[in-house]
Amino acid sequence: MEIEALVSWGFGKGPLIIAGPCSAESEEQVITFASAFKATCCVNLFMSGIWNPRSRPGTFSGEGVRALEWLQRVRVELELPVAVEVASTKHVEACLRHPVDVVWLGARTVSNPFSVDEICRALQGTSFPVMVKNPLGPDIELWLGAIERLYSVGLRRIAGMHRGFTPFTTTPYRNIPKWEMAIELRSRVPSLPVLCDPSHMAGKADLVPEIAQKALDMNMSGLMIEVHNDPPNALSDSEQQLDPASFEMLMKNLVFRVPNSDDTGFRSHLEDLRHQIDSIDHQIIDLVASRMRVSEKMGEYKCRSNVTVFQLNRWLEILKTRTEQGVSAGLEKEFIENLIKIIHEESIRCQDIVMDQLRESGRCPGSSDENKDD
Ligand code: PEP
Ligand code: MN
Repeated sequence: MEIEALVSWGFGKGPLIIAGPCSAESEEQVITFASAFKATCCVNLFMSGIWNPRSRPGTFSGEGVRALEWLQRVRVELELPVAVEVASTKHVEACLRHPVDVVWLGARTVSNPFSVDEICRALQGTSFPVMVKNPLGPDIELWLGAIERLYSVGLRRIAGMHRGFTPFTTTPYRNIPKWEMAIELRSRVPSLPVLCDPSHMAGKADLVPEIAQKALDMNMSGLMIEVHNDPPNALSDSEQQLDPASFEMLMKNLVFRVPNSDDTGFRSHLEDLRHQIDSIDHQIIDLVASRMRVSEKMGEYKCRSNVTVFQLNRWLEILKTRTEQGVSAGLEKEFIENLIKIIHEESIRCQDIVMDQLRESGRCPGSSDENKDD
């Protein structure tokens, strides 16, 4: 589906700054926060969960509709636009009775296309801007699918919200960023603004600033940051919420860079560096292609000698020596390991194809699958 003709949101000029407590806990908390944000001018949109999807039952899941009334005061008395998460048709209907300015779909909702479909039906004919968080797992089709579903019921003010993905290994983050997923979404839908939620990525308040800066450096369209008056006693997501002083400090320290510059010195130096990168990429591609041609010859040779495609010891040696070389050349261990694994996988695939072709044409001894060992 072609997604185009998205309409601008119209809040602020630079990256959109969205902030507020994970959950609206009391009217006083909401009004005090929103007044402070209004006074500092750096927050474009006040957000707060009022229906919070919690993974485990028995934890605080929001104040519900009565909190919408508190948010009305923020909109009307303080003239600050507000955003809430919606996860069902009932939530959307409540947001029509007590208007809000923006709604968002959470990671759990986006993971279920049936829920997204239902919410889309409720949103059809409304003009809500909708932010779509990435699903729990790194599945670009699910993320894009939710955006397409909204688009196909006529919504035109849509944005992506990158909040990271459930990690299956030990990581310092609550949700691993996998920045390449946000890049992929932006490449698939160039007109779509994609914002970042550093709070849910970090899971801990002290990691929020580095992620927020990285998101700005990646030229993302905004930040959504959880801020609480008393984080240790917050009813939800207490470890990741910033206190007001830390939020103020973060806003002061963030470096807002421009995506481009007209300065001629800058442009010509950047051009030089880009030529270097182009030339290196060219050489990398030629080298990888030559490596695959050698792999094909090896496949042919192994086939004629009736030897398996895969030899465990050789692979372990390649992985070890290339990783050591990469690390001593200053590359990240994980990066070089992934790179060599991808190249090796393709090499096995090339050898396999050659073997199959030779076998089919009867130019190779032995019958296929008994000898394969991968
Ligand atoms: C939340 O805002 O507390 C929340 C559940 O967010 P996410 O959908 O990103 O997990
Ligand atoms: Mn939260």
